[in-house]
Amino acid sequence: MRMRTLLILTALTIAGMAFACKAPKDETAAKKPVHNPKQHSVRRAEMEEKVVKTDAEWRKILTPEQYRIMREKGTEQAFTGKYWNENAKGEYLCAACGYKLFDSSQKFDSACGWPSFSQPASQDSISTSVDHSFGMEREEVICSHCGAHLGHVFTDGPKPTGLRYCINSAALNLKRKP
Ligand SMILES: [Zn+2]
Repeated sequence: MRMRTLLILTALTIAGMAFACKAPKDETAAKKPVHNPKQHSVRRAEMEEKVVKTDAEWRKILTPEQYRIMREKGTEQAFTGKYWNENAKGEYLCAACGYKLFDSSQKFDSACGWPSFSQPASQDSISTSVDHSFGMEREEVICSHCGAHLGHVFTDGPKPTGLRYCINSAALNLKRKP
């Protein structure tokens, strides 16, 4: 019995270490100034993929409603957007930069009035950050490609993820499958 407990503890420690080792490593890679020329070129390539524009440029590209939502973290009124009730198959792209964010296969009817997805198209599609606006603590969903605000993610979604990515229609463009 004691041997078994020891084995379990050892396994947990190894798993914990693997996890702990991975997290700071990623963080270091992202934050530490890079001097290695080889790493530098990788970093540059990553940066070049990102879309960076001035406010004036975004105002030209986006409609006033899209600008309010995507650049000023606004929210469209429930049941008013073009995709909350959309069932067509296709890819949902970022309305600002065209990056693929969600797939229609991950969309579900949450009856909340906004298009809802159980997961992003890929882990690289979006990033999240804590949003304290309106006296609430919510997880803001951001396009990882251009930094646009998309909506929020909640933990009342369907299995297996249990997540509900509640996204403004105005932040999306549906590329329908023929
Ligand atoms: Zn984008």
